[in-house]
Amino acid sequence: MRAAVTQGVGAVLLEDRPGPGAPEAGQTVVRVQAVGICGSDLHLLHGDLGATHEGLLPRVQGHEFSAVVEVADPAGDGPAEGTRVAVWPVLACGECRPCRAGRVNVCRRLALIGVHRDGALQELLTVPTGSVVATPRLTSVQAALVEPVSIGVHAAARARVAPGDTVVVFGAGPIGVASALAARDRGGQVLVVDPVGARRELLARAGFPVCWAEDVELAVQVGAHSGPDGPDVVLDTTGRAALLPTVLDIAGHGGRVAVVGLTSATAPTSPGPIPFKELDVLGVSCCLPEEFAAAADLVARHPELVDSLVSHVFALDEVAGALRLLDERPTEAFKVLVDVSGDTRLPTATGGDR
Ligand SMILES: [Zn+2]
Ligand SMILES: [Zn+2]
Repeated sequence: MRAAVTQGVGAVLLEDRPGPGAPEAGQTVVRVQAVGICGSDLHLLHGDLGATHEGLLPRVQGHEFSAVVEVADPAGDGPAEGTRVAVWPVLACGECRPCRAGRVNVCRRLALIGVHRDGALQELLTVPTGSVVATPRLTSVQAALVEPVSIGVHAAARARVAPGDTVVVFGAGPIGVASALAARDRGGQVLVVDPVGARRELLARAGFPVCWAEDVELAVQVGAHSGPDGPDVVLDTTGRAALLPTVLDIAGHGGRVAVVGLTSATAPTSPGPIPFKELDVLGVSCCLPEEFAAAADLVARHPELVDSLVSHVFALDEVAGALRLLDERPTEAFKVLVDVSGDTRLPTATGGDR
């Protein structure tokens, strides 16, 4: 079978590899359909994950994916052959303190399919049956977007978004859109802030108030949405370290701030607003299994918005180009997909727009 292997920093080669053997009890073999490429894939590509990067390469990347069950679990659990599925990419040890407390997404020995284990940029893959979610109502493209949407579901849950809460989402990339959608689904009044006009337009079409301004003017616009008390919740999905002071300033007294975007960057930040306003500052990593299933349901209820996130589709032998596009033209590339099976019914071309 074909596999796109990240050999080293910036080098992805297509290899012919033997397929997986028959699954053991508790395992399912899936045939990959579509794979989303995201910012964390670039971190691995560039080797800027610091100490955690040791020993990760060579690696088959791909943690956001749809698939069809090729060989069902021999124990009789899980979806039958031919079922379209999405796969929760978290592998947790089950023994450490967070695992024992049910917070398996922050397992001390956390491994992610596509980061610490070979992922979905190959034709066949063995996965834990317990991580497989049947998505019969979704297309292969929509099912591949369940994972990024699940980050938004987790962010809104971490920030305890409740009906009537005013919510400001910074960043309208795929995770920002997912966070806005999940926060609105919980009853939040959501404003989305992003400097890129095309991204604001996409959200405006989905009924979200949007804005962009610098400094004082931004505070004025957020105030117009949230009122004098400021927002109950701020979700920062930008991954831009330099934005954190603004995020802490804009949050209302007694509010919640969730920091979603991964970054290795640093920027000076005064912690002052955290005690002064008694902000709850919450980190958001990947999601819990029940949130992954909830994300599949959220995608099924908003197929048009989810479809509109896809900006480019590449074939499996064009993975290097897909990564380069996301790296070099990040505002133009929205969600970049790799069509592994060749049957997502979307045109593929090097750098080609949908
Ligand atoms: Zn991702
Ligand atoms: Zn653990």
